[in-house]
Amino acid sequence: MNILVCLKQVPDTETQIKIAPDGMSIATENIKWIINPYDEYAVEEALRIKEKFGGEVTIIGVGPKRVTESIRTALAMGADKGILVDDPAITGSDSLGIARILSAVIKDLDYDIILCGKQGVDDDYGIVGSILAELLGIPQISVVIKVEVSEDASTVKAHREVEGGTLVIESALPALITAQKGLNEPRYASLPGIMKAKKKPLDAKTIADLGLDASQVGENGAKIKIKQITPPEERKAGKIVEGETPQEMAANLTRLLHEEAKVI
Ligand SMILES: Cc1cc2nc3c(=O)[nH]c(=O)nc-3n(C[C@H](O)[C@H](O)[C@H](O)COP(=O)(O)OP(=O)(O)OC[C@H]3O[C@@H](n4cnc5c(N)ncnc54)[C@H](O)[C@@H]3O)c2cc1C
Repeated sequence: MNILVCLKQVPDTETQIKIAPDGMSIATENIKWIINPYDEYAVEEALRIKEKFGGEVTIIGVGPKRVTESIRTALAMGADKGILVDDPAITGSDSLGIARILSAVIKDLDYDIILCGKQGVDDDYGIVGSILAELLGIPQISVVIKVEVSEDASTVKAHREVEGGTLVIESALPALITAQKGLNEPRYASLPGIMKAKKKPLDAKTIADLGLDASQVGENGAKIKIKQITPPEERKAGKIVEGETPQEMAANLTRLLHEEAKVI
């Protein structure tokens, strides 16, 4: 089976994000970049399917040269090859633009399953997978916590958690699945894996290589525009409830909830 994984590089969730002077983007200096955590589940699941059925895992990323490092990490985990689409024309692409690029890469590939994360933990749109499936004309099952490919590799059953239960969805292959936390426990890259990854193929492509033109991606192709980014409101300092005894503390807490918070 050939499995494709769309991998986004995102700022480490520990990073202190600063807004850039334009007020519409984030300052990218001093950011530690990591694989989008939901995409790590996607990579791990792709490797498990390959281990059972054979075939190849290809990692596809759209973004600047630094994304190579995250693709190499996925190759070190066990993926077979990578494709990076890096082109100045990509700057300003919205989710539709990113999905158009991914679809242009994928339409010429031989694949059975495409795995994406359920969302990028930075921009949080959660729609690239859905748009991509629509552009490719294939079924999509989103926010998946378990994947079962049939023995003859013709269908897939995917489990989705819903309020109070689990939905099991079946689809013919090829299909696109978006990964949710709980799908698996991603493996770490081993030292031999890291060494091997250095020699695995990683193709770089431009927009022109994909037969796209600048009107379909970047700001020209975007249907939406970011107008402003604002930081969350600063949290007020907490209050320590004082008192010599538990009874006194409880009485003080009750008074604060009544007089200050006005919730009782
Ligand atoms: C008007 C506008 C301008 C923007 N300009 C820029 C810009 O200049 N530079 C910039 O970096 N971002 C820019 N963005 C953000 C960029 O469009 C998002 O990265 C993209 O929309 C994906 O959003 P997301 O992470 O929320 O995707 P989601 O839909 O939440 O991601 C779901 C999954 O899709 C896949 N995926 C998403 N993005 C990629 C990718 N790049 N490569 C491979 N797989 C991917 C992954 O599997 C991911 O887990 C802009 C957004 C808007 C709306």
